[in-house]
Amino acid sequence: MFFKKIKIERKVILKREVLDSILSYCQIKHPNEAVLILKGKSKNGTITVDGLVIPPFSHSGPTFAGFPHSFLPFDMSYVGMVHSHPSGPAKPSITDLHNFFGLVSVIVGYPYEEKSVFAWDSSGRTIPLTITPETPPS
Ligand SMILES: [Zn+2]
Repeated sequence: MFFKKIKIERKVILKREVLDSILSYCQIKHPNEAVLILKGKSKNGTITVDGLVIPPFSHSGPTFAGFPHSFLPFDMSYVGMVHSHPSGPAKPSITDLHNFFGLVSVIVGYPYEEKSVFAWDSSGRTIPLTITPETPPS
């Protein structure tokens, strides 16, 4: 019996263009929270985010942003959610963990810079986040 549990190291890869869109969306929504759905794929623990969707029926205010998950169309390309914390650190709140959607929750803290972006799993643990370099113009 040589069962060995393979521990999958999770990581999130965020495309530079996607990050830029997230940061500018957060700035537009400020001082309210911004909420976006992350589109991409997940393979061997690596979650690659390559697009964003504005959630339907999203409601937001200065303290909480969310949307009823039951309204979401079932789509396998939805890997998680990103939202902003206009006045707090980029750490998931209890409410965030209760409303966890998908595989990863990305939180952007004020002032919405690259270094204020963090990825979390459903237990509130950080997932390493990598930003891919800009795609060179062809
Ligand atoms: Zn939150």
